[in-house]
Amino acid sequence: MLISPDQAYQAVMQAVKPLPSQIVDLSNSLGMTLARPIKADRDLPPVNLSAMDGYAIQAQDASTETCRLAIIGECAAGNKPDVIIRKGQAARIYTGAMLPKGADAVAIVEQCSDEQDHVIVRGKIPPNANIFQRGENAARGEVLLPKGEPIGSPQIGVCAAVGAASVSVIRFPKIMVLCTGEELRSANESVKPYETRNSNGPMLQAALQEWRFESQFQIVPDSLSKIKAAIQRNLKKHDVIILTGGVSKGRYDFVKEAIEQTGGRVRFHGVAMKPGKPQLFATAGKNQCIFGLPGNPLSAMTGLHELVLPALRRMAGRPIEQCRHVFQAVLANPVESKGDRLRFVLGRLHFDGPNLCVEPVESQSSADIAASGRADGALLVPKDARQIQAGAVVEFRPWKQWPS
Ligand code: AMP
Ligand code: MG
Repeated sequence: MLISPDQAYQAVMQAVKPLPSQIVDLSNSLGMTLARPIKADRDLPPVNLSAMDGYAIQAQDASTETCRLAIIGECAAGNKPDVIIRKGQAARIYTGAMLPKGADAVAIVEQCSDEQDHVIVRGKIPPNANIFQRGENAARGEVLLPKGEPIGSPQIGVCAAVGAASVSVIRFPKIMVLCTGEELRSANESVKPYETRNSNGPMLQAALQEWRFESQFQIVPDSLSKIKAAIQRNLKKHDVIILTGGVSKGRYDFVKEAIEQTGGRVRFHGVAMKPGKPQLFATAGKNQCIFGLPGNPLSAMTGLHELVLPALRRMAGRPIEQCRHVFQAVLANPVESKGDRLRFVLGRLHFDGPNLCVEPVESQSSADIAASGRADGALLVPKDARQIQAGAVVEFRPWKQWPS
């Protein structure tokens, strides 16, 4: 019995849970999810700072159109000021330097004339002008990044700013890709005419890497005992096993049986999607899971993006609503569909002015690896849609970083 792609998605997302947390160096945390909030370790800024290059003054001295002040010193960034500004006095000051005692404003260089021991300030300057006030960005102890926040470069900047050299994050899943097939050879091996190069292994590994998930891949022959042994061995060290091939109903398709014989619990086998109908999903151990993707490369990629990557994002701590990446694009050419299953059609993206557009890419079948080289992802043609007109907005699933 086929279930709908949406039911399959829900079943996967209900079965997987975020993994435990770990402490990692900030430099290794990109793409991970915060397991604990990041708080300001001191007021931000910690003291009053000059926002500009200029002169630290008392604002009341500059309450007239011009004033002439005695320069009594200099305040540079990174130094503690050693002067106190009194009425009629000024100190040269530079961006990011701590404001000296007594000063309550900065006159910017552009409105001043420096006469060595005096400065002439033109124009009125209100109190607090050109000063970053202590604590104006955040108070000490304030939460700057909540638990659950995905770490991108701006978040790394925040952590560094508050001295979080290591951070508590949800650990990434450990992933093994097992490519089953007697016919498979590695890219660096010679192939006979009746053999197939293993494109799934490198392709899935790279697709995972695009989302910062590390994995390894291995070829396993079509043998029940060898597939079983590979599953057993890899469940000891991995959270997720992704198998490709051997998941249909053929005489040499042993994946389902192998999973069941190693104690895996098959949650579904068969999804109403095209390509990729024989998708299989099983759970194992405490919070481990096994995906069986069909062997044809485009079917395997479709399954990876529809079901596996969302599950990995969830395990890595992302909120459920952020696990499926949905884009919309304007269809550049019409697509036809016979449609009793949700169809994924290869597509190439481009911008037409501000509009993201998708051009369907012709492919002969789910085995057409050559066509995938012309695609950036897949557009979704809903079940029962006969034709979608050019100009319609369609859902698009990116298969790579784009623009890249
Ligand atoms: P299967 O799902 O095992 O029936 O395989 C379906 C088709 O996909 C067959 O033509 C296989 O040769 C091909 N195939 C299976 N695994 C891979 C792989 N790792 N790389 C490229 N093609 C594959
Ligand atoms: Mg096979």
